[in-house]
Amino acid sequence: MLDNVKVVLVGTSHPGNIGSAARAMKVMGLSQLVLVEPQCKVDAQTLALAAGAADIAQNALVVDSLEEAVADCGLVVGSSARSRTLEWPMLEPRECGEKFAIEGESHPVALIFGRERTGLTNEELQTCHYHVCIPANPEYSSLNLAMAVQTLSYEVRVAHLNRLQSVHLQRQEEYPRHKELEMFYEHLEKVITDTQFIAQDKPNMVMNKLRRLFNRARPESQEINILRGILTSVEKQLPGKK
Ligand code: SAH
Repeated sequence: MLDNVKVVLVGTSHPGNIGSAARAMKVMGLSQLVLVEPQCKVDAQTLALAAGAADIAQNALVVDSLEEAVADCGLVVGSSARSRTLEWPMLEPRECGEKFAIEGESHPVALIFGRERTGLTNEELQTCHYHVCIPANPEYSSLNLAMAVQTLSYEVRVAHLNRLQSVHLQRQEEYPRHKELEMFYEHLEKVITDTQFIAQDKPNMVMNKLRRLFNRARPESQEINILRGILTSVEKQLPGKK
């Protein structure tokens, strides 16, 4: 999914910002950097600031227009320090991360960043499905370009990790069926009666407490099998069973 996320920098003029943006991307697992009409070259300063992410800066795709950069993308979101300059659907950074994590599983998606001094033009902003604004200090809301890349890339990563986690949780452990659990309790009761842990005449109180304990622990099928194995091994040691 992360490979489907394009970070598109429009008209960047400072080579260092390209390097810092590349680094911001790589630490969050993103790799597709696109430069639209950059006003500078990828140079030594870029690579110095990219540090371990020099590969991303060097492999950046350079294109002539925003149109070209996003042609294959199913979702295009433009970032802007000025919220609501245009009446346009807005996303919170968190929602933006979530949309990217979901849609990025099936098609390329793009996050657009503007020029250091002037941001994105209205025309560029109108190319986007949504705008995203990092809710910064209203008195000084303009982040450095690479830091805006960092913040939004982080949201994409967190949303992606949450999805992986929930997919993992959905592939739940196998729990024993009611019948299997009842067989386990029967087996347990028989063994602890045979070992004389509980008196044959009033096993209920202990068994109820044990049922409560196992209910709370929610043992998985495999764990129930282990417990059954332990009970069988105890049975084999009982006098007369050897
Ligand atoms: N003076 C410009 C700011 C440009 S900062 C302006 O008013 O638009 C460079 C880029 O970083 C912006 O175009 C935007 O893509 C991103 N950026 C900076 N601050 C941001 C914020 N608070 N929310 C979203 N994106 C931001």
